Amino acid sequence: MRTLAAVLVLCAGSALALPDPFDGKGAKTPPVVTVKAPASAISQADPRVWVELDAPGKAERQAAVDAGISIEEVKPGSAAGFATPKALERAKAAGLKVRTTVTLRQRFGALDFPEKDAIYHNYKELEAELRSLAARAPDLVSVFSIGKSTRGRDLWAVRLTKGATGTQRSKKPGIVFMGTHHAREHLSTEVPLLIAKNLVDNRADAEVARLLDTRDVYFIPMVNPDGVEYDIEGGKYHMHRKNMAQNADGSTGVDLNRNYAWGWGGGGASPNPDDDTYRGPSAFSEPESKAVRDFVSARPNLKVLLSYHTFSELILYPWGGSDEQIPDKKALAAFKNMAGEMAKMTGYTPEQSSDLYVATGDTCDWAWGEKGIFAFTFELTPKSMWDGGFYPGAGVVQRVFQANIRPALYLIDLSDDPYRAAKDAAGITAK
Ligand SMILES: [Zn+2]
Repeated sequence: MRTLAAVLVLCAGSALALPDPFDGKGAKTPPVVTVKAPASAISQADPRVWVELDAPGKAERQAAVDAGISIEEVKPGSAAGFATPKALERAKAAGLKVRTTVTLRQRFGALDFPEKDAIYHNYKELEAELRSLAARAPDLVSVFSIGKSTRGRDLWAVRLTKGATGTQRSKKPGIVFMGTHHAREHLSTEVPLLIAKNLVDNRADAEVARLLDTRDVYFIPMVNPDGVEYDIEGGKYHMHRKNMAQNADGSTGVDLNRNYAWGWGGGGASPNPDDDTYRGPSAFSEPESKAVRDFVSARPNLKVLLSYHTFSELILYPWGGSDEQIPDKKALAAFKNMAGEMAKMTGYTPEQSSDLYVATGDTCDWAWGEKGIFAFTFELTPKSMWDGGFYPGAGVVQRVFQANIRPALYLIDLSDDPYRAAKDAAGITAK
């Protein structure tokens, strides 16, 4: 991968240099399903801008999100993210001060992405990996589909447990790890996939064997395969977040992580179809979020859920859709202690999701609010857009997996009774 320093030097001549990651030459094999509209047309005409705003506090971040901007990066005094021209106008009308804007084509069109990015898995490669895991340990591993995407792709789950396969019910406590609700967050597929592989490779290890004997462990590494395949189409990255639903106004995609029913339609989730954070026409309007809902609903043994996203290096817990704390004090103590423990393991920052800004309709609020499942969002590496943003390159994959294997084992262990975490190691209940 290009080093950051090299990228900065390369970009230094232009006014608003970001390291640019986006031209994924040779990164992926072609998609398996033919898209209806020529993708290059979507890409060439992409009107979105990367915008940086004055944002001294949460009120400004919230106003930006409510205007339809997808805030991706928060720094002292400022926030940055993607906006359509209309969202940018709404943000200005709301009194926000815009520092800089730059179009995606201006900024993200030129540099090549390293070929070794091909270690990231596209949809077909992911399916092949999951099937090979199952073939390696058929007594322990099974692969099944939880439903179909908008464009008819199977949404693959892999299950690791002793004594049950596929969709057989189990009374063992369960946990599910998910990736790529958001298409461009490719690292969030690699991490759960590598964790699943690690467990299979180490199945003879006493601790891993104990966990797989006594827990029901699921991975759904690619919740949004249509979006993923579009994002890598033509060997270029398209900076695509949403699924590939065709909206009534001609725009493409619903933000799956704003489409869950808990608090759906509230703040921080756009009603405008062309915004990156479009919540969809109704809660669970999308086949992908519906499939996750039905998967979870059919498994009352699930106690813990982890949804991987990128980027920012955060560990987030509910609520995301409200400034309030969750009312169950013991659960809140458990959430805080779990997030704190996992923060020590990863170096990530733990916080309530809405501390960034309120955003309704996400997976974790629904899982906790509706099902009482201890649900976390991990925002993986890197820390900022300047460190590679959504496309940090092949070089980070192993390191990010290494940082995330211990939290995964910790959560699998705790899934028998997450309330065990309400008291920290010193026996003190978190406030
Ligand atoms: Zn995301």
